[in-house]
Amino acid sequence: MKRIGVLTSGGDAPGMNAAIRAVVRTAIFHGLEVVGILRGYAGLIYGEFKELSISSVGDIIHRGGTILLTARSQEFMTPEGRTQAVKMLQHRGIDGLVVIGGDGSFRGAVTLHEHGIKVVGVPGTIDNDIPCTDFTIGFDTAVNTVVDAINKLRDTATSHERVFLVEVMGRNSGQIALAAGIAGGAESILIPEYAPNFAEVSEKILRGRDRGKLHSIILVAEGVGSALEVSKEIEERTGLDTRVTILGHIQRGGTPTAFDRMLASRMGAKAVELLLEGVSNHMVGIVNNTIVSHEIEWALSLKKAIDADVYQLAGMLSI
Ligand code: ADP
Repeated sequence: MKRIGVLTSGGDAPGMNAAIRAVVRTAIFHGLEVVGILRGYAGLIYGEFKELSISSVGDIIHRGGTILLTARSQEFMTPEGRTQAVKMLQHRGIDGLVVIGGDGSFRGAVTLHEHGIKVVGVPGTIDNDIPCTDFTIGFDTAVNTVVDAINKLRDTATSHERVFLVEVMGRNSGQIALAAGIAGGAESILIPEYAPNFAEVSEKILRGRDRGKLHSIILVAEGVGSALEVSKEIEERTGLDTRVTILGHIQRGGTPTAFDRMLASRMGAKAVELLLEGVSNHMVGIVNNTIVSHEIEWALSLKKAIDADVYQLAGMLSI
């Protein structure tokens, strides 16, 4: 292996830049050349390539987003698009590829492997919804962003004695809501993995009022439904005034936490080492603070479950 490519694809996540930096520097350390591919698979099809040097990735470890830009590509979903992408890689003499992204990007990586391209995936998504890894790059930063917002909302919620609902990202996964809910001391956490029990949420709010609690914070993962709808339901059941905050894309931005930078650095380096060992079709993960790798298709055939003990803990600490 002489020359590898790196791209970021799908939803961006804080820490992707730290991962790019680790890929580039590890590769150069081992005597490889590195090509950055812009706009994910879209840029791969259109040959948007850029040679990367040690200094191309200087001063980015602390930046959110991705210097390589990211995109979703419908064209790559077609056999013609993928054939074109493979041609581009061959034409530029790229022997291996590191794909930094979420599960969709990993499925795309598998199709490249099937075309004979050596490819390794690095899990970069705030959702932490990828199996075979305890954490994905960007999750910790997103959770901290939500906790920061909860801290601020708590001040105003207390002053006005209001119920605040905070809608967070997670269409299919309650990982952000659960972690941020526990760390932020939320009263109830609604996640798609468990059917919402509005009667219980409302009773808890009223019980809190009875013992003099001034505020209530309810976290709603977007997969449960609109927080506005949930707020109407709760107003009807409790007769209390509610306010809704939808955090939206704020959760995707910001400087990555030290945890995410460290994770991205370790995972990016491992991806290059795997390519050097001739491994393909694998994703990097972290399990019990050890960097591991698993076959992508096998990993994606599993479902990342919510830790039931942690979910119960959330309920117990907010009685
Ligand atoms: P994420 O990687 O964040 O989950 P997406 O699901 O949008 O983001 O996937 C990113 C891109 O990966 C898609 O736009 C598409 O080009 C490619 N992709 C996703 N699923 C597949 C698939 N089954 N086969 C080939 N390419 C795919």
